[in-house]
Amino acid sequence: MKILKPFLITLLFSALVSVCHAQQNFLNITNYRAYYGWAHNYPQDWIILRRFENNKRDYLLLVNPQTLQTRINETSFYQVQEMTFPQTRVKFKGTPYIKAIAQAEKQSVTIQDAGIEKGIPSETGISLTADLCPSHKPLDRRIFTDMISEFQKVEKPAPVALSVSGLWMLAHTADIQWLKKLRDAGDIRITWVNHSYNHRVSAKAPLKENFLLEPGTDIEYEVLATEKLMLKNGLVPSCFFRFPGLISNQQLVYKITDYGLIPIGSDAWLAKGQHAQNGSIVLIHGNGNEPVGVRDFINLLRSKTKQISEKQWLLYDLSSTVEDEEKQGE
Ligand SMILES: [Zn+2]
Repeated sequence: MKILKPFLITLLFSALVSVCHAQQNFLNITNYRAYYGWAHNYPQDWIILRRFENNKRDYLLLVNPQTLQTRINETSFYQVQEMTFPQTRVKFKGTPYIKAIAQAEKQSVTIQDAGIEKGIPSETGISLTADLCPSHKPLDRRIFTDMISEFQKVEKPAPVALSVSGLWMLAHTADIQWLKKLRDAGDIRITWVNHSYNHRVSAKAPLKENFLLEPGTDIEYEVLATEKLMLKNGLVPSCFFRFPGLISNQQLVYKITDYGLIPIGSDAWLAKGQHAQNGSIVLIHGNGNEPVGVRDFINLLRSKTKQISEKQWLLYDLSSTVEDEEKQGE
């Protein structure tokens, strides 16, 4: 028994951790809305981004302004002060989160690849982002199985950012379950990035009228409906946004940052022949439509096997990349 007891405590603790880790599926969301302000629960201050009800309980989507991590929690746990988003920005001025928003706005003029597009070059490794644009093909699971087998001895869970579109989620319930199993097993840590709901694209329209710049696009719907569907699937929305096609203009960037979201570009879209450097935000597509990029990513991992085993080449969270870029700018 003496030997068993610590073992049992460990078991119980891991069970508790996994219970806390599993996210609730919010199946009956009502009154989902952009709602900003300050939520206080000693010793941590949080920024409120959204508010909603589910089965008669009131919830907040919160972001930690220091770490950029988000969470959902019941409103009653906090002292809440509602503010406009501009007021919230002033109150939390100087935090990594607010600085990252300002940084993204500074890089908002170009039509392609606005926002934060790379991390700190002295980091040895990359941040992986995989886009899940609407597709009827199954999730490209090799990305995850190869990543897990390369990193299991050195970096567990391995961080990855997945940009999900609403239409992809609707058609891929089994793939979402599979990803959540990897997450709950501690193999990967997923940052869920908003990639718009409809992700409309035209083969003919010029870029300035394509993707989210298509006339008549309802940005509020594209942002909020995607988040609601993430919550329904038990995924916690992060504070990041990836433009479909990486296409935007300055006005659109400001519309997105006004929702408290940080646009994330890429300096290494592998299928377009761009190479990953240290600190790169690598872009591949996990929706089965871009096998070339996935192949390049797997080759990249294989070429780094020795460095990975020596912890000389690692994967970085999107949030730590942004934070580091901010620190670097100081
Ligand atoms: Zn896309």
